[in-house]
Parts: sequence; C-alpha cells; structure tokens
Amino acid sequence: MRILVTNDDGVRAEGIRHLAMVAVQFGEVKVFAPDRERSACGHAMTMRDPLRVKRCDIDEIEAYEVNGLPVDCVNVGLTVGWPDGCDLVLSGINNGPNLGFDVTYSGTVGGAMEGAINGIRSIAMSMCVFADGAPFHYETGAQWLRENWELLTTLETHELSLLNVNVPAIAFPEVQGHKFVGMGRRIYQDRVEHREDPWGRSYYWQGGVVVMRPESVDTDVWAVTNGFVSVTPVSLDWTDRALLAQYQSSMAVGKG
Ligand code: MN
Repeated sequence: MRILVTNDDGVRAEGIRHLAMVAVQFGEVKVFAPDRERSACGHAMTMRDPLRVKRCDIDEIEAYEVNGLPVDCVNVGLTVGWPDGCDLVLSGINNGPNLGFDVTYSGTVGGAMEGAINGIRSIAMSMCVFADGAPFHYETGAQWLRENWELLTTLETHELSLLNVNVPAIAFPEVQGHKFVGMGRRIYQDRVEHREDPWGRSYYWQGGVVVMRPESVDTDVWAVTNGFVSVTPVSLDWTDRALLAQYQSSMAVGKG
C-alpha cells in the first residue's frame, strides 16, 4: 500500500511523526508536509508563489518539507513522490480537535479533502485536547489507528468522501471505543476579542471560547466528550440535495 502523509502543524510536529510511524507498519510511506505550522488554512492552496521541496526524513521515513499548505503538499506529493498514484492519504495527527464546523477551517481536513478530490481514500485525524497545557496523548491516537487500520482502510467510501477521525486526549485504556457519528455543532462564544495596544489603538484577537453542545447525541462532539473516538464520513458534494429536489419540484423551469 502506497501512503502519502501530510498535516497542517508542520513536518516537525509530534503528531505527524506518530502518524507516519503507524503508517509505515502497513505500507510504503512518503511524508509531504508544510515547513511550518499552517493550522486553520482550510482547503486553501498556493497560486502565486513557487513551491520548494526539501528532503527532511523523519527517522527512517522518507519525508519532505514544502513551503506551502496541506493542499500544496498533497499535490506536490502526488506529483513528485507518487507520480503513479497512491492508495491512501493520511493527514494529522492534528494538535487539537477538528469537530463540527472546525472541518471547514481545518488545514488537516483540507489535506484529506485534496486526497479525496484526487480519488484517493483519505483520512484526517486529530487529537481532541481542550485545555492549554494538557497532554496530547498522540500515543492513544497512534494505538487506536494501529488497532483499527484494517477497518479504516476497508470501510466502504463514496467518491468525494473522506473520513474525519477525532480522538479524545486520554490514555488508551480509558477510550470507550469508537462511534460512527455525524458532524456536531461546535459554537464559539466571544469569537473576536477587542483589545488595545500600548498606544490606545484597537486591535482584535480571533479565537473565542468553544461552547460544546454535547447534548446532541450521535455527533462527533458528543462521542469525543464521552470518551469515544469519532469517525465521521464527510462528503465534498456540498449540494443540498433535499433543497435542490424541493426547488426542482416546486418551481417552474426558468427562462432567460
Ligand atoms: Mn493544526
């Protein structure tokens, strides 16, 4: 199995090392990842600047840093590393959760999206650390992935679908198992904070406090909050099929 590994935390991040170390037990691995942290870049790509690639192996694993975003890394990786295609794109393990609407901001998921667009089975994986300074427990994510590799790499998928996996940041024995769940609603309060610089001029800091809604069961938010690994199939077909059918059946065919 030919595997392309990427992330959005940068090629030197601890999470990608754990991911690559698991992947190498199951196939041939090539890592293409950003040369620095690029979190929250979503599915953005570099259009106006050249992309440079530099070899920087992770222990014995073939790895390259790219001065771009996760999407760039996947595309460069498919061109340079796997010109004949690959069987799996793995993105992560991210140093924070990608639950609910985080999926739309996440560079980790962005990398997996690019894999899916290229017709490759793609999996994004994130560690759900919620408190500053709390341990990431990457080893939990790595062990879960190792034990569920067969499942994840053989689950039926649709064209343009990817798997978004979130792991609770707890010791492995405490993990309750895994749940197949939908995207929850992770809402941020006080999203933009107003501050003043030493000269009294306003500036703004974006981030905000996450308001979890664990009461919505069968969501990724609920699963992770309750100690389960969440596995969510995410489709890149963004058409609202139900609304589309409603429009098509209730409205006359437009002219001109
Ligand atoms: Mn990140």
